[in-house]
Amino acid sequence: MTKDDYASRFVSETIGLPIGSSEYFSLNSKEVDTVCTYLSGKDINPDPLQPVIEDVIDSVQRALFEESANREFPLFFKERWPKGKEFAIALTHDADRIEAPISHLRSVKERFTEKDYALAIENRKNLYLNIEGMVGIERTHGFKSSFYFLLDEYEITPLTETLSRLRSDGWEMGLHGGLRSSEDIGKMRAEIGLFANLFGTKPEGIREHYLKFDPKVTWRIMEELGLSYDTTWGFNDRPGFKAGLSLPFHPPDPDWEMMNILEIPLILMDTSLWGYMHLSEEEGLKMIEKVMAIASSRGGLFTLLWHQEALLMRGGRIYPEILNRIPASCFVGNALMIDEWWRGRSASKMTISHTNRTWSCRITDVVPGLRVRVLHGNLKMKTEGKCRSIASDGNISKVEVQGDCVIRLEA
Ligand SMILES: [Zn+2]
Repeated sequence: MTKDDYASRFVSETIGLPIGSSEYFSLNSKEVDTVCTYLSGKDINPDPLQPVIEDVIDSVQRALFEESANREFPLFFKERWPKGKEFAIALTHDADRIEAPISHLRSVKERFTEKDYALAIENRKNLYLNIEGMVGIERTHGFKSSFYFLLDEYEITPLTETLSRLRSDGWEMGLHGGLRSSEDIGKMRAEIGLFANLFGTKPEGIREHYLKFDPKVTWRIMEELGLSYDTTWGFNDRPGFKAGLSLPFHPPDPDWEMMNILEIPLILMDTSLWGYMHLSEEEGLKMIEKVMAIASSRGGLFTLLWHQEALLMRGGRIYPEILNRIPASCFVGNALMIDEWWRGRSASKMTISHTNRTWSCRITDVVPGLRVRVLHGNLKMKTEGKCRSIASDGNISKVEVQGDCVIRLEA
């Protein structure tokens, strides 16, 4: 493949166009460069809060809409998130530690409430193990999150039963890659082996400790070891769109083929707000709302990293406040749910055929939650099979798709 092929395929799949649609648009060389430079990790988006690749996607989509209206041909595309939700959030937690010695507790006393500190000193409460605390908060909203464990640095065997139970309830257990695993395939293979011994299966997803990542090697290591997604690619010192977008993507290999691994870019990490930016809790919450609003306005994906060990600390304790601020128009899931949705959406097949007076869009291999938007102008729409129109303003209809079906348009 060429860079142009990779970029066109990426844009077409991200918009959710039918097979063969890349012939309906062309990217200029600047757009191809933007997509290829940042999605390969060759360079980093210099304007962290500007999703420059989403600018490219949106301008292609706008041009297609205009052309469809002017030249009177219909347009079919898959809505971006399940059940037509406007944007998405992935809730994720790294577990850098799950306990701390009393000596350490004494040195960070001021981070905790007096009551918690007193209980911890008497060994009656572990302030650094908050997995069930986080799950409890998420349960009240019906949300499920991902946890990543640093198997390299502590023993989780005593927790395996609890974690396996949470896993079967829909929370994701993933791997927090230890130092050097981002560059050493043997090291990462060994950690995946440890994980498989504990949980009975390999992890689907990973985030590297300290966000250590070399785009030239790390994706390839992960791909070779059969991981489905990574969610490391983000800034340590601030929130933002390091890859120029908030949406998941398959990075290119050196021949510009799409890799199988999916990158779910990390957009905001709790420790950036406190450790690097020195914000107050109130300012931190405002920053979260600001970045969430950017992702929301672009139909993006806000991937949040909130360390599990920080839940009872100053800063970390605002986690319930964040969940309270998530609007109902948002799809909230763990990273594995995002991975499965994004792959399922791409694999949901739309094939277009047309004669002089009719257009039909055949849809197969449907992912649950799929909706298709149809810009049909004056053409009359009929559906056959497992789909139905759920909204229409005359020129544009939304179709809920539950299985194999055909959407037909006639003059
Ligand atoms: Zn870490």
